[in-house]
Amino acid sequence: MKIGFIGLGNMGAPMAANLAKAGHTVTGFDMAPIQVDGVTMASSATGAAREADIVITMLPNGAILHSVAEEIIPAMQQGAAFIDCSTVDVDSARQVAAQAAQAGLMPVDAPVSGGVGGAAAGTLTFMAGGSVEAFEKAAPLFEIMGQKAVHCGEAGAGQAAKICNNMILGVTMIATCEAFALADKLGLDRQKMFDVVSTSSGYSWSMNAYCPAPGVGPQSPSDNGYQPGFAADLMLKDLRLSQQAAESADADTPLGQHATELYARFVEQEDGSGRDFSAMLPRFEKRGRG
Ligand code: NAD
Repeated sequence: MKIGFIGLGNMGAPMAANLAKAGHTVTGFDMAPIQVDGVTMASSATGAAREADIVITMLPNGAILHSVAEEIIPAMQQGAAFIDCSTVDVDSARQVAAQAAQAGLMPVDAPVSGGVGGAAAGTLTFMAGGSVEAFEKAAPLFEIMGQKAVHCGEAGAGQAAKICNNMILGVTMIATCEAFALADKLGLDRQKMFDVVSTSSGYSWSMNAYCPAPGVGPQSPSDNGYQPGFAADLMLKDLRLSQQAAESADADTPLGQHATELYARFVEQEDGSGRDFSAMLPRFEKRGRG
């Protein structure tokens, strides 16, 4: 297949490389001068999109997605699929999908989880929104770039699933970190805390698979000085998207809102920027109630 790939950053570059390695003809475009193994670079987004059967975008945010979509939609071939894998707000995903559908294209919003490691290894999870036909057209590419793709529903459903998942993740990570900090102050050994909680009703992915306490549980960024992993900055981005969506849908999300405020303070006023999102534990450790 002829694939256009726009946005070849930390995630997009290895995803595009995997598609090329699997034998597809990939034409890429990025604002930055980037070279990717097996990918021919075009001099504009339109140049990458014009001849493609499928165009994939992997961009920083909804505003940039809008501007790229504006440019490429009129240039794309009728019936081509437009798969946006960026994490953007649900409203932008729906607007771009409507614009693409009106132009005779097959839009899919398909944000991912799995991070840079998953992008390189081809083990991402895709959460997709769009028509069944569009999802089926995109599915063989999801299989190359990932290990699992869930068709979540109509346009925007992929972004909705992604931000709901990450809102749970942000909240449970904070809950896990504050519980460890409380356990410390109560004189409870961290390993004992893990042994109990990881097999009791307080268990979660944050505790069991990504334990924020160094030296406890499976290997995680806490064992590596809280180098990301999943940066606190990206968690803040996703939490803000969850609150933007909650605002737009009139949903009451008090814990999501509080988690957003805590990560905003951590990233913008404390030392959280560039650290893994589980570095909330050393933050809580240092604090008292005041
Ligand atoms: P990145 O900043 O490394 O890459 C974005 C790329 O888009 C850059 O190379 C940039 O030059 C390019 N770009 C910006 N504006 C452009 C334009 N108008 N035309 C063409 N290219 C343009 O970001 P990333 O880490 O690759 O993340 C991409 C998306 O994936 C984001 O939406 C992010 O939230 C999401 N995501 C990231 C991770 C992660 O761990 N990094 C995990 C899951 C989802």
